[in-house]
Amino acid sequence: MTCIKAQSLITVYINDELEIDELEEFTGHIQSCEECKEELEVYYALLTAMRQLDEDKNLSNDFNQELKEKLERSQERIIHLRFNYYRKKGVLLLIIIIFAAFFSLYHYLIPKEQENPVEESSFRLRTSFMEERFDAPREELNRYFEEQRGN
Ligand SMILES: [Zn+2]
Repeated sequence: MTCIKAQSLITVYINDELEIDELEEFTGHIQSCEECKEELEVYYALLTAMRQLDEDKNLSNDFNQELKEKLERSQERIIHLRFNYYRKKGVLLLIIIIFAAFFSLYHYLIPKEQENPVEESSFRLRTSFMEERFDAPREELNRYFEEQRGN
C-alpha cells in the first residue's frame, strides 16, 4: 500500500469502516511507515476530540495510547477473521474429502460386493423357475403320447 492510499484511508479507519483486506494492508503500512503513523495520530486525536466535544464527553488524556489500543484491536480482528476463514476452508475441504471417499466407495466397492452374487443367484432362480414351469407340462404331454402309443 502506498502512503497516498494509506493516508486517504485514515478517516475511514478511524470510523471503523475498512473492509478486512484493506484493514490488513492499512495496519501493516502504519506499522512500517513512521510518516503515515504520525499522520494517523494527528487525525485520530483531532477527530476523536471533535467527536467527544460534540457528544459533551470529557476529552481523552492520551490519544496516542488509545490509538495504540485501537490498532491492537484491529490486529486481533484481522487474526480472528483470517482464522475463521481458514477454518471454514478446512471444513469445506473435509466435506469434499468425505464426499470423494463416499463416491469412490459407492462406485468401486459396493457394486463389486453386491452385483455379482445377486446376478448369479437371480439367474439360477430364474432357470429353476423356468424348469419347473415348462417341464411339468412337457412331462405330462410325453405321458399322454406314451399312453396313446400303448393303445
Ligand atoms: Zn506511508
